[in-house]
Amino acid sequence: MLYRRRTIDLPHGKLNTPVFFPVRNIGKRSSDNTPSYVGSIPDLPVAMINTRAIRNRTPMWDRLLNGVTLREEMGVPEDTIVFADSGGFDFSSGEVDTTPKKTLEAQRQLDADIYGTVDVPLSREKRAAENQRRVNQSIEYALEASDQHSGEALLFASVHGYDPETVRNCIAHLEKFGDFDGYALGSMVPIRSDYKKVTKLILSARTATDKHLHVYGLGGLVYQPLLLYLGVDSFDSSAFIRGAGNRNYLIPGFGGEELQDIEQLERLPCPCPVCGTRTLDDIREDRSALVQHNLWALATELRRFQYVAESGRNIEDYLDLRFQGNEVTSRAYQTAKQQVRRLT
Ligand SMILES: [Zn+2]
Repeated sequence: MLYRRRTIDLPHGKLNTPVFFPVRNIGKRSSDNTPSYVGSIPDLPVAMINTRAIRNRTPMWDRLLNGVTLREEMGVPEDTIVFADSGGFDFSSGEVDTTPKKTLEAQRQLDADIYGTVDVPLSREKRAAENQRRVNQSIEYALEASDQHSGEALLFASVHGYDPETVRNCIAHLEKFGDFDGYALGSMVPIRSDYKKVTKLILSARTATDKHLHVYGLGGLVYQPLLLYLGVDSFDSSAFIRGAGNRNYLIPGFGGEELQDIEQLERLPCPCPVCGTRTLDDIREDRSALVQHNLWALATELRRFQYVAESGRNIEDYLDLRFQGNEVTSRAYQTAKQQVRRLT
C-alpha cells in the first residue's frame, strides 16, 4: 500500500499529512474572498498561495513590507501553515518575469512554511522540443533555488514531465545535484481528464523518491482518493471555489451536483456545520456558504479514506466501490491498482 501518514515540522507548527491545501486567491484580482475556514475546519489549518500574484499586487505588497503579516492580510491565525508556490502556472503562456532568487526573497517575506520553486509548466500544444526545454528550465530554476535556500522553511522542487521516464529522471537529477525537502509535481491540470496518464506520472514520481510528494492543482473530490491511494502526501485545488461559482455542490461519494438539479429537496444531503441546519434556498443565495460546504466535503472525503485505512479495512475494496459508478475513473483506478500491486 502506498498510502501513508506522516507529520512534518514546519516553522508555524506541525502538519499531519496527507493534507489538502485550499488555494487562496489572495493577490489575484478576481477575488480576495475565499471565505474563512481556518479554525472552523480543524483538518485544514493550511493555505496555498501564489507568490507572484501577491508580489505583483503593489498596495498589498507595500503593506507586507511595512510590517503587516501575510496571515493578518488573509485574516487567519498566525499559526496557519502556508505553502507559497511560485505562481508558475501563470507562465504557461507568458514570459517568466522573475528569478529563483527574487521568488525566494518574496516567499521569505511572506513567511511561508513551504516554498515551491519557479517553474515553467508544460503546454499541451507545444512540440516535444519546446516541452523538453521547459522541463530543463524548471530543473535549472530549482537547482538555483536550492543554492540560494537556507532557513527553516521547506523547499519543494517543482517537477514537470510528459512521460514517466522524464519525471523519474528529473527527480533523480534534482536529488543528486540539489537539496530539497520534497517534490511538487505540476502540469497535471491540462491533462486531468486523462486519468491513466496522470496516474502513471504520479506513480513514477512516488517511486522516484521517498520524500514529501505534492501534486499541484488536483485536489478535487474525484482525484482525492486516487492521490491518497498513490501515496501522495499533499495536494491543492481551487475547484471548491470555482465549483461554487457554477453553483456546484460537492457531495463525497458522488462528485459535484448542480444545485438546480436538487430543487425538490428542502434539506441538503450534508450534515456539515454549514448545511446541517439550513435549507437549500438559504445555501443557494450564499456563495460563501457554498464554498465552505465544498471544503467540508473535501475534508470529509479525506476523513473517510483515513477511517477506512485506520480501521484496517481493505482500501482497494473501498475504492472499487467508490469508482464503480464511473467508467472512466474506474478504468483509471483499475490500472493504478495493477501498477501499485506490482510495487508492493
Ligand atoms: Zn455541507
